[in-house]
Amino acid sequence: MLSLTPLPALADNYIWMLADAQGGTALIVDPGEVEPVIDALSANDLRLGAILLTHHHPDHIGGAAALLEHAPDARVYAPVDDRIPVAHRRVGEGDRVEIDSPRASFEVLEVPGHTRTHIAYHGENIVFCGDTLFSLGCGRMFEGTPAQMLSSLDRLAALPENTRVCCGHEYTLANAAFAHRVEPENEALHARTAQARALREAGRPTLPSSIADERAANPFLRVDVLPEEPPLLQTAWASDRVARFAALRAAKDVFRA
Ligand code: ZN
Ligand code: FE
Repeated sequence: MLSLTPLPALADNYIWMLADAQGGTALIVDPGEVEPVIDALSANDLRLGAILLTHHHPDHIGGAAALLEHAPDARVYAPVDDRIPVAHRRVGEGDRVEIDSPRASFEVLEVPGHTRTHIAYHGENIVFCGDTLFSLGCGRMFEGTPAQMLSSLDRLAALPENTRVCCGHEYTLANAAFAHRVEPENEALHARTAQARALREAGRPTLPSSIADERAANPFLRVDVLPEEPPLLQTAWASDRVARFAALRAAKDVFRA
């Protein structure tokens, strides 16, 4: 039995921990810093077996080198990008990542858009999607085009509906404010927002969510089904889905709740 835990880090990041309590091992995804990982490992008496990295931004890889000093046997998996200095294995589209301890297996998806070499890891009924898909939102397009980002989100949205969505940041409530302006009548969005608000008030993460939840409530996965032109767009609502996505993302970039 693997247990999945988001470790809060930095301002609003999550470092994901997937642990096998029986075997006493864990893997870690996107360690932006060291302390929360060391604390969680020692509190649960776990040995670090592997580190998976989704993209090169410092808030996702900043703790990797120091963690390796603490756990020299851990293997680091990363996309092909020399902006990530530490990796034992570089992985890309269609590669399989087979971890021995904890025993876990993932398929790699290339999901460019936030950065040009961003990858996601799908397996164990989980997707570690970094800063590509957020709950009720998506990442900023720092290095990619709207067409690339939309195609990456399409691929994540096509994963099995019960896949647990493990994002890199706690952005759900801020994203909800924008989503409500896009789709005020969406009942699934209202329900998800109420749930997220209650979790945050209790000091708990709003993640993981699920692909089904995101398909129902995340406006960036709903460019084909949004009922009408959202009022907050700067440009006209186009018939072309890429242009619609680009207009939504641009509106979110300048949105203030
Ligand atoms: Zn990032
Ligand atoms: Fe990030």
